[in-house]
Amino acid sequence: MKKVLTVLAIVALFGSIAQAGRTDISCSGTVTISASNAAWVGGHGWSSGSNRTISWSGSCNMCQWGIAIYGWGTNPLVEYYIGRSGGSNSGSYNTSKGGFTLYINYCNGPNITGDGSFQQYNCSGNGSSGQNMGEHSGGWSGLGHGTNLGGGYQLVGGENYGGGSGTMTVSAGGANWATVWWGSGSASISCGGGSSTTTTTSGGSTTTSGGSTTTSGGGGTSITVRARGTTGSEQIQVRVGGNTITTWTLGTGMGNWNTSTSYTGGLNVCFTNDSGDRDVQIDYVVVGGSTRQSENQSYNTGVWQNNSCGGSYSEWLHCNGCIGYGDVSGGGSTTTSGGSTTTTSSSSWWGSWW
Ligand code: CA
Ligand code: CA
Repeated sequence: MKKVLTVLAIVALFGSIAQAGRTDISCSGTVTISASNAAWVGGHGWSSGSNRTISWSGSCNMCQWGIAIYGWGTNPLVEYYIGRSGGSNSGSYNTSKGGFTLYINYCNGPNITGDGSFQQYNCSGNGSSGQNMGEHSGGWSGLGHGTNLGGGYQLVGGENYGGGSGTMTVSAGGANWATVWWGSGSASISCGGGSSTTTTTSGGSTTTSGGSTTTSGGGGTSITVRARGTTGSEQIQVRVGGNTITTWTLGTGMGNWNTSTSYTGGLNVCFTNDSGDRDVQIDYVVVGGSTRQSENQSYNTGVWQNNSCGGSYSEWLHCNGCIGYGDVSGGGSTTTSGGSTTTTSSSSWWGSWW
């Protein structure tokens, strides 16, 4: 099983996804999110948050967190969870659902404005249906941690940050929008019992037929890295076209690590935390089904050769540095037939969303 640790992964431990794609739909009915071995977060809500009181119903057989309220605020940039703990105790406040304790994590990684620092608010207390977001927002402000709820989306949903398979069905009262984003595997979102149109799709595929909309993603190009560390604490990053796709902490046995990306461009796998006895051995990578051996790559800035860091044609990264494996190529296609439309896209979407 993939184990995500490190900076992105510290974020992941607390529930954020280093996502590979996101799909938004409009939906006034019931939202269903289905996942296959995916790290994902999503649900039913509003593209812009407010002080509204939120009630819902739903079930989830794959959630590590949820079903509960999740969203983003701005100024400062905040990712919030109602009904979850984790982080630094930053004080308590009262709501009509009872007392809550605000725990804050200071994170660095993908967020709704791009990639960088943000705060994560974990609000521990009774997170069940019927939350008055004005009371939460007021509580945070009273503790000196106010944020603008209108700056980001606000939803009722769930999350699996380890990679799960199953289904979540959720309906939030008065909600008209839904989203899912995923960091690995594939996830799909659909709307039943209400109007539905696709508003945004990124990094995946969209299928529309009749009155229903189903979108799925996690496509892009699959990347497998076969690697190990000498101490079991080595961290490597997968970078495509200069973008860090994921960060892993290796074990001491050779293992296959899987991810996917919609980026294109040069693929580097980099050792990032060299210290003491740490070294990394990368046997090979598999890009979109084709194997590229490390020992065949001329670009290696981390191998110890000729009494310095950097050389070529080696499976080893003894120093912080990268092995370059050539390009990841993309491409997209659109197919239209009869009353349905299928669009597959691998265009760059990162800048427009995360
Ligand atoms: Ca090899
Ligand atoms: Ca070393």
